[in-house]
Amino acid sequence: MKPFVPQLVYFEPNALEYPLGKELWDKFNSMGLEIRKTTSHNQVRNIPGDTDLEKYRVAKSTLVVGIRKTLKFDSSKPSAEYAIPLATGCMGHCHYCYLQTTLGSKPYIRTYVNLDDIFNQAEKYIKEREPEITRFEAACTSDIVGIDHLTHSLKKTIEFIGKTQLGRLRFVTKYHHVDHLLNAEHNGNTRFRFSINSKYVIKNFEAGTSPLEQRILAAKKVAEANYPLGFIIAPIYIHENWKEEYSDLLLKLSEALKHIEVPDLTFELIQHRFTKPAKRVIQKRYPKSKLEMNEEQRKYKWGRYGIGKYVYLDDEANEIKEIMMTRIEKFFPQARIEYFT
Ligand code: SF4
Repeated sequence: MKPFVPQLVYFEPNALEYPLGKELWDKFNSMGLEIRKTTSHNQVRNIPGDTDLEKYRVAKSTLVVGIRKTLKFDSSKPSAEYAIPLATGCMGHCHYCYLQTTLGSKPYIRTYVNLDDIFNQAEKYIKEREPEITRFEAACTSDIVGIDHLTHSLKKTIEFIGKTQLGRLRFVTKYHHVDHLLNAEHNGNTRFRFSINSKYVIKNFEAGTSPLEQRILAAKKVAEANYPLGFIIAPIYIHENWKEEYSDLLLKLSEALKHIEVPDLTFELIQHRFTKPAKRVIQKRYPKSKLEMNEEQRKYKWGRYGIGKYVYLDDEANEIKEIMMTRIEKFFPQARIEYFT
């Protein structure tokens, strides 16, 4: 799979006052991309397309280069103290992606060029928490690796955090374009996580992302570059032959990593769930999706803000957990596992 190239690029005029903004302007011009101006990255108008669906598709391959004005970082508890805002939006077409609902009518991709402001803010947060560690999550609102071959903002962030005593960085990706990150001076302060799944889930619900084999190969390179490594398997989804396919996934992974030392390997496992608002958006944007979201076959679990989730019935949930945990414990006895039903 080729690295992402935007179909259309917008610039906030002030972005050109920053070195990264200027660099991206020159780069996209020399690539011959269509470039437009926009007053604000929050108000990009006139994205081409005759229908909502067409506009959505074009937006998913539109990159907006802007300035991050809100420098108050969101919380990313429990796995990190803060979400570090490097980008918003993603070019992937994962049907179940929670950005479908959280980004609402702004599915285009935004990258922020005022990195020094963002790093200064991160430094303040680290200072406030001294002598505790402060963890930053870089993939709360995007798949940052998927666009980093263009911007290198993630690479700069890895190196910035690498220089701190008490800062830590983490992110997750479904993309394999990691080569430029391998020589970053991370000093062990960045945890690189790959999102992986069964053949069926990737084929049917993760359009526009890297194939499994490429993700695993990238994970191998990342482990060889001595980054702390982790995997997320989410959503764990019941489909025909799911037990065999998830076992096969873990076997493949253990084969790939067998000659590499991976200290402190982590797994995060999350079973499939959906909310009613998410279901509505998914059905609108991916009308032919095979993603099963039948409320009657699920258990309702109360959630925050009054929006409950539909999770697997207890028997199914227990079976998934049992199978996944035993397989991981068998292939990766040293791994730390976090499990969410
Ligand atoms: S790659 Fe990640 S962020 Fe992008 S659409 Fe898929 S799930 Fe969402």
